[in-house]
Amino acid sequence: MKIAQRFENIELSLIRQINALATPLSTNLGIGEPNIEPDATFRELAKRATTASWHYSANAGQLSLRKKLAGVEGALTGDPNEICVTAGTQEGLFAIFQAYVDPGDEVLVPNPGFVSYATLARICGATPVPYNLEPPDWQIEKLPITSKTKLIVVNSPSNPLGSIVSEDKLREIANAGPLVVSDEIYHEIWYDAPPPSMRGMSKNVIAVDGLSKSHSMTGLRLGWIHAHPDVMKPIITAHQYIATCASVFSQALAEAIFDATEWNAQWLDGVRQQFRAQRDAALFAVEREMEVKIPQPRGAFYLFVPSPVCDTLSFAKTLATDAAVLVIPGAAFGSNGEGFVRISYAASVEEVSTGIERIGRWLRSAGR
Ligand code: PMP
Repeated sequence: MKIAQRFENIELSLIRQINALATPLSTNLGIGEPNIEPDATFRELAKRATTASWHYSANAGQLSLRKKLAGVEGALTGDPNEICVTAGTQEGLFAIFQAYVDPGDEVLVPNPGFVSYATLARICGATPVPYNLEPPDWQIEKLPITSKTKLIVVNSPSNPLGSIVSEDKLREIANAGPLVVSDEIYHEIWYDAPPPSMRGMSKNVIAVDGLSKSHSMTGLRLGWIHAHPDVMKPIITAHQYIATCASVFSQALAEAIFDATEWNAQWLDGVRQQFRAQRDAALFAVEREMEVKIPQPRGAFYLFVPSPVCDTLSFAKTLATDAAVLVIPGAAFGSNGEGFVRISYAASVEEVSTGIERIGRWLRSAGR
Protein backbone atom coordinates (compact mmCIF):
# COMPACT_ATOMS: atom_id res chain seq x y z
CA MET A 1 0.00 0.00 0.00
CA LYS A 2 1.57 3.29 -1.08
CA ILE A 3 1.19 6.01 1.52
CA ALA A 4 0.51 9.64 0.65
CA GLN A 5 3.59 11.45 -0.61
CA ARG A 6 3.35 14.09 2.09
CA PHE A 7 3.86 11.39 4.74
CA GLU A 8 6.61 9.45 2.97
CA ASN A 9 9.45 10.89 5.04
CA ILE A 10 7.51 11.49 8.23
CA GLU A 11 8.40 9.24 11.15
CA LEU A 12 7.50 8.99 14.80
CA SER A 13 9.76 11.37 16.71
CA LEU A 14 13.05 10.21 18.25
CA ILE A 15 11.50 10.99 21.62
CA ARG A 16 8.94 8.23 21.07
CA GLN A 17 11.70 5.89 19.86
CA ILE A 18 13.74 6.43 23.05
CA ASN A 19 10.67 6.10 25.27
CA ALA A 20 9.96 2.76 23.58
CA LEU A 21 13.18 1.45 25.21
CA ALA A 22 11.75 1.97 28.71
CA THR A 23 11.44 -1.01 31.04
CA PRO A 24 9.80 -1.16 34.50
CA LEU A 25 13.31 -0.59 35.95
CA SER A 26 14.01 2.57 33.93
CA THR A 27 14.20 6.02 35.45
CA ASN A 28 12.48 8.15 32.86
CA LEU A 29 14.06 11.58 32.37
CA GLY A 30 12.85 11.68 28.80
CA ILE A 31 9.31 12.73 29.57
CA GLY A 32 7.61 15.94 28.47
CA GLU A 33 4.76 16.06 30.94
CA PRO A 34 4.47 17.27 34.53
CA ASN A 35 4.76 14.73 37.37
CA ILE A 36 1.93 16.44 39.22
CA GLU A 37 -1.42 14.97 40.24
CA PRO A 38 -4.65 16.95 40.71
CA ASP A 39 -5.45 17.94 44.31
CA ALA A 40 -8.90 17.46 45.92
CA THR A 41 -10.21 20.85 44.72
CA PHE A 42 -9.02 20.17 41.18
CA ARG A 43 -10.80 16.79 41.18
CA GLU A 44 -13.95 18.46 42.51
CA LEU A 45 -13.81 21.01 39.66
CA ALA A 46 -13.49 18.11 37.22
CA LYS A 47 -16.45 16.36 38.80
CA ARG A 48 -18.56 19.48 38.40
CA ALA A 49 -17.40 19.85 34.78
CA THR A 50 -18.99 16.49 33.95
CA THR A 51 -22.42 18.04 34.52
CA ALA A 52 -21.96 20.50 31.62
CA SER A 53 -23.38 19.75 28.16
CA TRP A 54 -21.97 16.75 26.32
CA HIS A 55 -23.04 18.08 22.92
CA TYR A 56 -20.80 19.73 20.34
CA SER A 57 -19.74 23.27 21.15
CA ALA A 58 -19.21 25.93 18.49
CA ASN A 59 -16.19 24.95 16.38
CA ALA A 60 -14.05 27.67 17.94
CA GLY A 61 -15.14 26.65 21.46
CA GLN A 62 -17.75 27.69 24.03
CA LEU A 63 -18.36 31.43 23.85
CA SER A 64 -18.11 31.81 27.64
CA LEU A 65 -14.63 30.19 27.64
CA ARG A 66 -13.46 32.22 24.65
CA LYS A 67 -14.59 35.41 26.39
CA LYS A 68 -12.49 34.48 29.43
CA LEU A 69 -9.43 33.65 27.33
CA ALA A 70 -9.78 36.78 25.20
CA GLY A 71 -10.14 38.99 28.27
CA VAL A 72 -7.78 37.39 30.77
CA GLU A 73 -4.95 36.50 28.45
CA GLY A 74 -4.18 39.95 27.09
CA ALA A 75 -5.73 40.86 23.77
CA LEU A 76 -5.81 42.92 20.65
CA THR A 77 -9.46 43.90 21.13
CA GLY A 78 -10.78 41.46 23.79
CA ASP A 79 -13.07 40.03 21.11
CA PRO A 80 -13.89 36.31 21.70
CA ASN A 81 -13.33 35.83 17.96
CA GLU A 82 -9.63 36.17 18.74
CA ILE A 83 -9.76 32.70 20.33
CA CYS A 84 -10.08 29.18 18.96
CA VAL A 85 -10.10 26.39 21.56
CA THR A 86 -8.27 23.30 20.30
CA ALA A 87 -7.64 19.65 21.22
CA GLY A 88 -4.27 20.56 22.75
CA THR A 89 -1.64 22.92 21.42
CA GLN A 90 -0.47 20.28 18.95
CA GLU A 91 -3.82 20.33 17.14
CA GLY A 92 -3.72 24.12 17.16
CA LEU A 93 -0.29 24.08 15.50
CA PHE A 94 -1.52 21.58 12.88
CA ALA A 95 -4.56 23.78 12.09
CA ILE A 96 -2.39 26.90 11.74
CA PHE A 97 0.03 25.17 9.34
CA GLN A 98 -2.87 23.71 7.32
CA ALA A 99 -4.46 27.13 7.03
CA TYR A 100 -1.35 29.08 6.01
CA VAL A 101 1.52 26.95 4.69
CA ASP A 102 1.81 26.00 1.00
CA PRO A 103 4.26 23.78 -0.89
CA GLY A 104 7.37 25.84 -1.64
CA ASP A 105 6.96 28.10 1.41
CA GLU A 106 9.69 28.44 3.99
CA VAL A 107 8.98 28.12 7.71
CA LEU A 108 11.62 29.38 10.15
CA VAL A 109 12.05 26.96 13.05
CA PRO A 110 14.30 27.13 16.12
CA ASN A 111 17.43 24.93 16.07
CA PRO A 112 17.45 23.33 18.60
CA GLY A 113 13.67 23.35 18.91
CA PHE A 114 10.54 21.29 19.48
CA VAL A 115 10.41 18.52 16.87
CA SER A 116 6.89 19.18 15.61
CA TYR A 117 7.53 22.50 13.89
CA ALA A 118 9.78 21.21 11.10
CA THR A 119 7.61 18.11 10.62
CA LEU A 120 4.42 20.19 10.32
CA ALA A 121 6.14 22.30 7.65
CA ARG A 122 7.19 19.19 5.72
CA ILE A 123 3.66 17.72 5.88
CA CYS A 124 2.50 20.89 4.08
CA GLY A 125 5.21 20.45 1.41
CA ALA A 126 7.10 23.47 2.77
CA THR A 127 10.77 23.74 3.66
CA PRO A 128 11.65 24.12 7.33
CA VAL A 129 14.53 26.61 7.60
CA PRO A 130 16.30 26.30 10.96
CA TYR A 131 17.49 29.45 12.72
CA ASN A 132 20.42 29.12 15.09
CA LEU A 133 20.22 29.25 18.84
CA GLU A 134 23.62 28.96 20.46
CA PRO A 135 24.91 28.11 23.91
CA PRO A 136 25.25 29.16 26.62
CA ASP A 137 22.17 31.43 26.63
CA TRP A 138 20.47 30.21 23.43
CA GLN A 139 19.24 33.64 22.31
CA ILE A 140 17.90 34.40 18.82
CA GLU A 141 20.54 36.35 16.89
CA LYS A 142 19.53 36.41 13.24
CA LEU A 143 16.44 35.18 11.39
CA PRO A 144 17.06 34.01 7.79
CA ILE A 145 13.93 35.73 6.40
CA THR A 146 13.50 35.59 2.61
CA SER A 147 10.66 36.41 0.21
CA LYS A 148 9.51 32.79 0.67
CA THR A 149 9.22 32.95 4.48
CA LYS A 150 5.59 32.25 5.37
CA LEU A 151 5.83 31.61 9.10
CA ILE A 152 8.34 32.21 11.85
CA VAL A 153 7.99 29.85 14.83
CA VAL A 154 9.09 31.11 18.24
CA ASN A 155 8.97 29.01 21.42
CA SER A 156 9.61 30.81 24.70
CA PRO A 157 10.12 29.37 27.29
CA SER A 158 11.79 26.78 25.11
CA ASN A 159 11.53 23.04 24.91
CA PRO A 160 14.30 21.71 25.01
CA LEU A 161 16.40 24.67 26.21
CA GLY A 162 14.52 26.23 29.14
CA SER A 163 15.55 29.65 27.75
CA ILE A 164 13.33 32.74 27.52
CA VAL A 165 13.35 35.30 24.67
CA SER A 166 13.48 38.98 25.71
CA GLU A 167 10.49 41.25 25.18
CA ASP A 168 12.46 43.53 22.80
CA LYS A 169 13.44 40.59 20.62
CA LEU A 170 9.85 39.28 20.56
CA ARG A 171 8.60 42.72 19.52
CA GLU A 172 11.19 42.87 16.74
CA ILE A 173 10.07 39.44 15.45
CA ALA A 174 6.37 40.39 15.72
CA ASN A 175 7.06 43.28 13.36
CA ALA A 176 9.50 41.53 11.00
CA GLY A 177 6.85 41.00 8.29
CA PRO A 178 5.84 37.32 8.10
CA LEU A 179 3.22 35.66 10.29
CA VAL A 180 4.63 34.48 13.61
CA VAL A 181 3.55 31.40 15.57
CA SER A 182 4.42 31.95 19.22
CA ASP A 183 4.28 28.65 21.11
CA GLU A 184 3.70 29.72 24.73
CA ILE A 185 2.74 26.35 26.18
CA TYR A 186 5.35 26.75 28.97
CA HIS A 187 4.56 30.36 29.86
CA GLU A 188 3.29 29.55 33.38
CA ILE A 189 6.41 27.53 34.20
CA TRP A 190 9.07 30.11 35.09
CA TYR A 191 11.55 30.65 37.92
CA ASP A 192 12.66 34.34 38.12
CA ALA A 193 9.94 36.39 36.44
CA PRO A 194 6.97 35.64 34.18
CA PRO A 195 8.15 35.39 30.57
CA PRO A 196 6.94 38.06 28.11
CA SER A 197 4.12 36.95 25.81
CA MET A 198 3.80 37.82 22.13
CA ARG A 199 0.01 37.97 22.40
CA GLY A 200 -1.25 41.21 20.91
CA MET A 201 2.20 42.47 19.86
CA SER A 202 1.04 42.75 16.24
CA LYS A 203 -1.66 41.52 13.89
CA ASN A 204 0.88 39.01 12.57
CA VAL A 205 1.15 37.10 15.84
CA ILE A 206 -0.62 33.77 16.30
CA ALA A 207 -0.07 32.63 19.90
CA VAL A 208 -0.75 29.09 21.08
CA ASP A 209 -1.15 27.99 24.66
CA GLY A 210 -2.90 25.31 26.69
CA LEU A 211 -3.37 23.51 29.98
CA SER A 212 -1.18 20.44 29.32
CA LYS A 213 1.88 21.73 31.18
CA SER A 214 0.54 24.33 33.63
CA HIS A 215 -2.25 22.06 34.91
CA SER A 216 -0.74 18.67 34.18
CA MET A 217 -3.66 17.97 31.81
CA THR A 218 -1.77 16.39 28.91
CA GLY A 219 -4.38 13.68 28.37
CA LEU A 220 -7.36 16.03 28.45
CA ARG A 221 -6.24 17.80 25.25
CA LEU A 222 -7.07 21.42 25.92
CA GLY A 223 -5.30 24.23 24.15
CA TRP A 224 -6.15 27.47 22.42
CA ILE A 225 -5.01 29.82 19.70
CA HIS A 226 -5.01 33.59 20.06
CA ALA A 227 -4.91 35.68 16.88
CA HIS A 228 -6.57 38.64 15.19
CA PRO A 229 -10.07 37.58 14.01
CA ASP A 230 -9.08 38.10 10.33
CA VAL A 231 -6.02 35.86 10.77
CA MET A 232 -8.05 33.36 12.80
CA LYS A 233 -10.85 32.71 10.27
CA PRO A 234 -9.10 30.10 8.04
CA ILE A 235 -7.58 28.48 11.14
CA ILE A 236 -11.07 27.80 12.55
CA THR A 237 -12.05 26.26 9.22
CA ALA A 238 -9.01 23.94 9.37
CA HIS A 239 -9.76 23.12 13.02
CA GLN A 240 -13.36 22.22 12.08
CA TYR A 241 -12.13 19.54 9.67
CA ILE A 242 -9.57 18.18 12.15
CA ALA A 243 -11.45 18.08 15.45
CA THR A 244 -14.91 19.71 15.00
CA CYS A 245 -14.45 21.16 18.48
CA ALA A 246 -12.29 20.51 21.55
CA SER A 247 -13.75 18.14 24.17
CA VAL A 248 -16.61 19.99 25.87
CA PHE A 249 -15.68 18.33 29.17
CA SER A 250 -12.16 19.75 28.95
CA GLN A 251 -13.59 23.13 27.96
CA ALA A 252 -15.92 23.12 31.00
CA LEU A 253 -12.99 22.16 33.24
CA ALA A 254 -10.87 24.97 31.79
CA GLU A 255 -13.62 27.45 32.63
CA ALA A 256 -13.95 26.07 36.15
CA ILE A 257 -10.17 26.49 36.60
CA PHE A 258 -10.21 30.11 35.45
CA ASP A 259 -13.25 30.83 37.67
CA ALA A 260 -11.50 29.42 40.75
CA THR A 261 -9.10 32.39 40.71
CA GLU A 262 -7.63 31.98 44.18
CA TRP A 263 -7.16 28.21 43.94
CA ASN A 264 -5.65 28.60 40.46
CA ALA A 265 -3.07 31.15 41.61
CA GLN A 266 -2.07 28.80 44.46
CA TRP A 267 -1.95 25.82 42.11
CA LEU A 268 0.39 27.63 39.70
CA ASP A 269 2.63 28.75 42.59
CA GLY A 270 2.78 25.14 43.77
CA VAL A 271 3.67 23.90 40.27
CA ARG A 272 6.52 26.42 40.02
CA GLN A 273 7.78 25.54 43.51
CA GLN A 274 7.84 21.84 42.74
CA PHE A 275 9.64 22.31 39.42
CA ARG A 276 12.15 24.67 41.05
CA ALA A 277 13.07 21.98 43.63
CA GLN A 278 13.36 19.36 40.88
CA ARG A 279 15.40 21.73 38.69
CA ASP A 280 17.85 22.47 41.51
CA ALA A 281 18.26 18.75 42.25
CA ALA A 282 18.91 18.11 38.54
CA LEU A 283 21.48 20.92 38.26
CA PHE A 284 23.28 19.70 41.38
CA ALA A 285 23.39 16.10 40.14
CA VAL A 286 24.50 17.07 36.62
CA GLU A 287 27.38 19.11 38.01
CA ARG A 288 28.48 16.29 40.30
CA GLU A 289 27.90 13.29 38.03
CA MET A 290 28.54 14.69 34.53
CA GLU A 291 31.03 17.35 35.63
CA VAL A 292 29.39 20.18 33.71
CA LYS A 293 27.93 23.42 34.97
CA ILE A 294 25.16 24.85 32.83
CA PRO A 295 23.21 28.10 33.25
CA GLN A 296 19.97 27.72 35.24
CA PRO A 297 17.01 27.20 32.90
CA ARG A 298 14.58 30.14 33.29
CA GLY A 299 11.42 28.28 32.29
CA ALA A 300 9.89 24.91 31.28
CA PHE A 301 11.29 21.72 32.85
CA TYR A 302 14.31 20.62 30.84
CA LEU A 303 18.11 20.77 31.11
CA PHE A 304 20.02 20.79 27.82
CA VAL A 305 23.35 19.33 28.84
CA PRO A 306 26.60 19.01 26.84
CA SER A 307 27.13 15.31 26.29
CA PRO A 308 30.40 13.62 27.23
CA VAL A 309 29.84 11.19 24.32
CA CYS A 310 29.83 12.59 20.77
CA ASP A 311 27.14 10.48 19.10
CA THR A 312 24.24 11.42 21.34
CA LEU A 313 21.72 9.06 19.72
CA SER A 314 23.78 5.95 20.49
CA PHE A 315 24.67 7.46 23.90
CA ALA A 316 20.96 7.86 24.74
CA LYS A 317 20.18 4.34 23.47
CA THR A 318 23.06 2.88 25.52
CA LEU A 319 21.94 4.74 28.63
CA ALA A 320 18.43 3.35 28.09
CA THR A 321 19.55 -0.26 27.70
CA ASP A 322 22.68 -0.42 29.94
CA ALA A 323 22.04 2.18 32.65
CA ALA A 324 18.21 2.07 32.79
CA VAL A 325 17.83 5.82 32.41
CA LEU A 326 16.02 7.61 29.60
CA VAL A 327 17.22 10.94 28.22
CA ILE A 328 16.60 12.42 24.78
CA PRO A 329 19.49 12.87 22.32
CA GLY A 330 19.89 16.56 21.42
CA ALA A 331 19.94 15.73 17.71
CA ALA A 332 16.20 15.02 18.03
CA PHE A 333 15.78 18.81 18.25
CA GLY A 334 17.87 19.76 15.21
CA SER A 335 21.51 19.82 14.11
CA ASN A 336 22.54 22.34 16.80
CA GLY A 337 21.36 19.84 19.40
CA GLU A 338 24.06 17.32 18.42
CA GLY A 339 26.48 17.05 21.32
CA PHE A 340 23.76 17.60 23.92
CA VAL A 341 21.16 15.52 25.75
CA ARG A 342 17.83 16.74 27.07
CA ILE A 343 17.18 15.77 30.65
CA SER A 344 13.61 16.35 31.80
CA TYR A 345 13.20 17.21 35.47
CA ALA A 346 9.47 16.53 35.39
CA ALA A 347 10.21 13.70 37.82
CA SER A 348 10.53 13.56 41.60
CA VAL A 349 13.75 14.84 43.24
CA GLU A 350 14.54 11.21 44.06
CA GLU A 351 14.05 10.03 40.46
CA VAL A 352 16.00 12.96 39.04
CA SER A 353 18.91 12.26 41.41
CA THR A 354 18.84 8.49 40.84
CA GLY A 355 18.64 8.88 37.06
CA ILE A 356 21.55 11.30 36.83
CA GLU A 357 23.60 9.18 39.28
CA ARG A 358 23.05 6.23 36.92
CA ILE A 359 24.43 8.34 34.04
CA GLY A 360 27.48 9.21 36.19
CA ARG A 361 28.06 5.58 37.14
CA TRP A 362 27.84 4.50 33.48
CA LEU A 363 30.27 7.23 32.41
CA ARG A 364 32.79 6.20 35.07
CA SER A 365 32.49 2.52 34.20
CA ALA A 366 33.04 3.38 30.52
CA GLY A 367 36.10 5.43 31.49
CA ARG A 368 34.62 8.73 30.26
N1 PMP B 1 4.69 22.79 22.12
C1 PMP B 1 5.74 22.39 22.86
C2 PMP B 1 6.96 23.23 22.86
C3 PMP B 1 5.67 21.21 23.61
O1 PMP B 1 6.72 20.82 24.36
C4 PMP B 1 4.48 20.43 23.57
C5 PMP B 1 4.34 19.13 24.36
N2 PMP B 1 5.47 18.38 24.51
C6 PMP B 1 3.43 20.89 22.77
C7 PMP B 1 3.55 22.07 22.09
C8 PMP B 1 2.14 20.12 22.66
O2 PMP B 1 1.38 20.21 23.82
P1 PMP B 1 -0.16 19.81 23.90
O3 PMP B 1 -0.25 18.75 24.92
O4 PMP B 1 -0.88 21.08 24.29
O5 PMP B 1 -0.58 19.36 22.54
